[in-house]
Amino acid sequence: MIMDTFTLEGKTAIVTGCSTGLGQGICLGMAEAGAKVVGVDYVDAPETAAMIEKAGGSFLGIKANLLTIAPIQGIVDQAVEAFGSVDVLVNNAGIIRREDSINYTEKDWDDVMNINIKTVFFFCQAAARQFLKQSKGGKIINIASMLSFQGGIRVPSYTASKSGVMGLTRLLACEWAKDNINVNAIAPGYMNTNNTEQLRKDPKRSAEILARIPADRWGLPSDVAGPAVFLASSASDYINGYTIAVDGGWLAR
Ligand code: NAD
Repeated sequence: MIMDTFTLEGKTAIVTGCSTGLGQGICLGMAEAGAKVVGVDYVDAPETAAMIEKAGGSFLGIKANLLTIAPIQGIVDQAVEAFGSVDVLVNNAGIIRREDSINYTEKDWDDVMNINIKTVFFFCQAAARQFLKQSKGGKIINIASMLSFQGGIRVPSYTASKSGVMGLTRLLACEWAKDNINVNAIAPGYMNTNNTEQLRKDPKRSAEILARIPADRWGLPSDVAGPAVFLASSASDYINGYTIAVDGGWLAR
């Protein structure tokens, strides 16, 4: 039956950046759909753990700093040890640094590129190696951005990294589709999380942004949960290398 293809029962999902924002919404969605969730963050994630427990799900929190690729293999190994397999990876952890390009520093460039694109690639690689060992395919969901499609302003390393995420998602999908590994991305629009705090605090920018969102509201973590569950489920088995905008119509404008 068609609804059965949306279930994540029996699957284990690793979600990075799980303590707050979109990652927290995705963790809860995955758990509600039946997955065991391994949440990774450089801070503790007690709120996420409590939400999943309340929903009757299983959660393993792993503390790791994803500014480097060093912790990745250990995270995959701990997930397998705890829950027996890894079936879904959501590369959600990401940062943004705002400054005029004329003054942008090498540190702001490197930090953003390290977590937003380098870690994303090597986490995809580690997950795919695990999927190949398990011989039953797998699902990778990378979190892209409107700035995978558009230029933006004052966020050069963010735009470079998120444009890279969309391209990398296509490339990995092409290499791994034959192994039943689906690599897709979600491009959130303007969402009410820490990531956009500076924008929402600026009355002029905030009003300009809201005025161009056809849905007439900023997005919420719960808005990305459904699309993430869909891309993690077998309902999306023939979707490869696509970036779904979850943007209240921003790109359609
Ligand atoms: P957020 O800042 O609320 O969440 C980011 C998460 O990543 C947090 O849990 C944070 O602790 C974690 N994180 C940050 N640095 C880390 C590190 N070094 N190691 C491990 N974890 C780390 O922002 P968000 O909006 O929830 O962002 C989630 C993803 O969505 C990011 O990739 C972001 O670029 C993307 N995104 C957000 C928006 C938006 O409007 N909020 C739009 C498009 C894309």
